[in-house]
Parts: sequence; C-alpha cells; structure tokens
Amino acid sequence: MSAKPVPAIEPAMAPFFAAARERRLVVQRCTACGALRFPAREICSECLATAAEWVPVSGRGAVFSYNVMHQVYHPGFAAEVPYAVVLVRLAEGPKLISSLVDCPPGEITIGMPVEVVFDDVSPDVTLPKFRPA
Ligand code: ZN
Repeated sequence: MSAKPVPAIEPAMAPFFAAARERRLVVQRCTACGALRFPAREICSECLATAAEWVPVSGRGAVFSYNVMHQVYHPGFAAEVPYAVVLVRLAEGPKLISSLVDCPPGEITIGMPVEVVFDDVSPDVTLPKFRPA
C-alpha cells in the first residue's frame, strides 16, 4: 500500500505548520489594516501592505463547499474513496481547503458547523482537518 503524499513545507507557510504541530490553528493578519488571510501571501489584498503576522483563530467554521472524490488520483488514497475535500470558511473569515473526518461524504451539507482537529501525518507534518461540531 502506498503512503499518502505529505505537503512540502515552504518557508512562507512554515509558521502555519509549526503552530499545527502545537495543536494551534493560525492565519496571517495584515499588521497595517488587520485583514486576515490564508494561505500566506506577500501582499494584503485589502491595502497592499506587505507586513504581516500569524495569529490564532478559533478553529471553528462551516463547510463553504466540498467535493467528493470517487477516482483514485493517488494510490495512497485508494482505501478511502469516496472521500470529501472540503472548503471550510473559518468563523474569522479566511477559507481553508482540508479534509472532513468523522463524517461520511453523503452526510456533508453546505453550512455544516465544523471544528478543527489535528492529524500527525508524519514525524514533521501535522495537518489541520475538520470534523462536525
Ligand atoms: Zn492590509
């Protein structure tokens, strides 16, 4: 059985993965105007400032959209089809693409309240995932 691919951690996203390792969910915040954003970007889309910091968020949100995967696009996921890829809108506003656990794909609804959980997928990488809240 093939292992699932693990994300390569690029420098801009390193603070996000370091926080996930500590069971904290963080997003970027523009230090000029306070706008939150995810994933990491070099420029604020609200005010074009470049300075930013990482701040904790609640980990609560709702399913904004989702897609159910029926094809095996990577052998590491063969045992899990069909599975859902969800777009979660956090209570604070930013959206994350993630996985929904503890919920069969047929039971997912748009607007479903969810909360973050953390999955240690390798010795170095922890992925924030979501479950029904
Ligand atoms: Zn800004």
